[in-house]
Amino acid sequence: MPELAEVEFFRQKWNPGLRQKVISVHLHPQKRIFRETSTTLLSRAIQGRHLRSSHAHGKQMLFRFGSDVWLGIHLGMTGKLSTASASHIPRPHDHLVLRTARHSLIFQDPRLFGRVRFALSPQPPSWWTTLPPPIHSPKFSKKKLEDICSRRSRAPLKALLLMQQFFPGIGNWMADEILWRSRLSPRTHAGHLSQKTISNLHTHIRKICHDALRIIGKQGSNPPRSWLFLHRWKSGGFCPRCHHPLQRAPIGGRTTCWCPLCQPPTPLPRAPQH
Ligand SMILES: [Zn+2]
Repeated sequence: MPELAEVEFFRQKWNPGLRQKVISVHLHPQKRIFRETSTTLLSRAIQGRHLRSSHAHGKQMLFRFGSDVWLGIHLGMTGKLSTASASHIPRPHDHLVLRTARHSLIFQDPRLFGRVRFALSPQPPSWWTTLPPPIHSPKFSKKKLEDICSRRSRAPLKALLLMQQFFPGIGNWMADEILWRSRLSPRTHAGHLSQKTISNLHTHIRKICHDALRIIGKQGSNPPRSWLFLHRWKSGGFCPRCHHPLQRAPIGGRTTCWCPLCQPPTPLPRAPQH
């Protein structure tokens, strides 16, 4: 599933259409990516307007057309944005195609877990403005992470990092990468971390998000081999730091990969002595 960096990568795929007028809209109105969205209103509103700007936030994207038309896209599991020539003939999974004089801006989604939303208003819609603060914003502070860890003290760290209401855009591979860098077991409960460990975890959350946005989001490259990223899918893969065989198990509902040597179980805090 696309995470924050891949979403940023796909957001830019429609950049060739910036400042261009949408001449026609082609879509598949019955597909579930348009659930709770009026495709008739959407087509009518976008047609004739110029693509003005786009934004990514966690796993969501927002495109502004003219001064008051907002198109929200969530890529789901298999969604992708791309640009083709104006003469592009839509393929079966191209569920939304915006045609300009020079380009076709395409949203394709074979498995249909994505979502397209639309709003007509001078201000960005509430489903965008109420998203949690981005991880790279100053609002995602150490204090905020301490609060999250104490509110969800019984959650294993892997499950915690996947909670989109706290960590927008972090998905399976980024959560594994963050815990591997922080040398924390994915099974450690959030309530068992010392202040120093939380501070270290905070640093790595910010660093991984920042580096992933730069390497994958902006450059479209794979992370370097020193990351867990390129080793975590291999059966029989080895930790790129200590070369110990990596371990895999479902945690927090997702296949989790970690190094048992670099990420040993965190000892429980000692009970107070009487
Ligand atoms: Zn290791």
